[in-house]
Formats: sequence, C-alpha cells, structure tokens
Amino acid sequence: MRQKRTTNRTTEARSKIMRAVKSQSTSPEVAVRDQLRPFGLRVRFNAPYLPGKPDIAIHSIMLAIFVNGCFWHGHGCKRGSRSPKTNAEYWTAKIARNRARDRQNTALLRRKGWKVLTIWECDSVPSRARKLKRALAVRRSA
Ligand SMILES: [Zn+2]
Repeated sequence: MRQKRTTNRTTEARSKIMRAVKSQSTSPEVAVRDQLRPFGLRVRFNAPYLPGKPDIAIHSIMLAIFVNGCFWHGHGCKRGSRSPKTNAEYWTAKIARNRARDRQNTALLRRKGWKVLTIWECDSVPSRARKLKRALAVRRSA
C-alpha cells in the first residue's frame, strides 16, 4: 500500500538537498558515464594518479573530467552560492580552499597536456551532453 505524502514539503526538500550534498552528487557522475558510452572511448573512472583526482579520465585524448558538486566547489549557480546559516565562516573558508585547489589542479593538468572539463551538478542533461561533445570534438581534431 502506498502512502500518500502529505508531510512538510520544506523539510522534505531540505533533507533531499542535504542528501545530495552529502553524497557529493553520485548521480550526475553516473549520467556522465552513460553519456560517454556512445563515443566508444576507453574511459577511466577516478584517476588518483592525476592532479585533483579527476572523476573521469580519457587517456587517448587526454581529457580529464571533474563532476563537481555546486556547493562544495562554490559554483556561481543558485545552489552553489547558497550560504549555510550555521558556521558560515567555516564553510566560506572551506569552499574558498576547495576553489583554490581546483584552480591549482586545473593548471597542473594543463601543464601536463591534459584538457580539463568541469561538469556541474546543476548542468542539465542536454547541457552536459553539449559540453562533452564539444570537448571530445576539440580533442579529437587537435
Ligand atoms: Zn551549479
């Protein structure tokens, strides 16, 4: 028997957001994997030997892909610019450190000849597809 949900929506939405933040957006990562499949490239997931440990690395075309959570990486979108009410200073500093590290890792990867693509948690499926397509096209023709 399915119970109809009439509980407080705000609480529900909030806990949903918290779950998403905690899991560091596993679902967009899975979506990106699926979107890469038709390209028939050998794709490696989690590349701990590369700066910043990209979520996805495609060695044949030297493309490193990060799937970033908007909150943790301080994206300029609505979710990314949300500031927590408690420990705001702590979080602001932490996110600033994350961003600095992201920039540094991107620079290191580029120096090694890698192209870096960042997919955001908030990117829509078509927008992700466009980004991937563009990155793959650029890399293949180069
Ligand atoms: Zn975002």
